[in-house]
Amino acid sequence: MTQSRNRRALLLIACAALTLTGCAAGTRTAQFGHLAPNEPLVTLIVSEDRETINRECLDPDGTRRILGCQTSRIVDVPGSGQVIAVKIVRYTDALPSEMAFEIDVHELCHAVAATQAIEDPCHQGNDGVVQTAVSVARTWNATKP
Ligand SMILES: [Zn+2]
Repeated sequence: MTQSRNRRALLLIACAALTLTGCAAGTRTAQFGHLAPNEPLVTLIVSEDRETINRECLDPDGTRRILGCQTSRIVDVPGSGQVIAVKIVRYTDALPSEMAFEIDVHELCHAVAATQAIEDPCHQGNDGVVQTAVSVARTWNATKP
């Protein structure tokens, strides 16, 4: 009897947790490839929250029903000159895992760096190792043409 009551209580807790996580709109944000203090080469925001997308994409009322946007700006970097920093915001119906998100922003960082005459900053501070999955010790290989 007590065992049955405990199982029922655990089941209720599990259902409540599933309901809470299923309803919560999440957002993942990362900055990668630091050019200078507080100056990332790439900022990536992925969100299930329409209000976050609307706010970031300058559509506060959501009337344009934007699913994503991109902005860029010029950053003066000592020793490198002017560098174009990019921010990408996009809506998603399901958040990527932390590791998948980190891989996305990391490779995006390489892509943005490759289009400019700068030293690629994407391995600074991480040694090319996925920080969200250190236990699996995955590394990126920089491929140069
Ligand atoms: Zn890399």
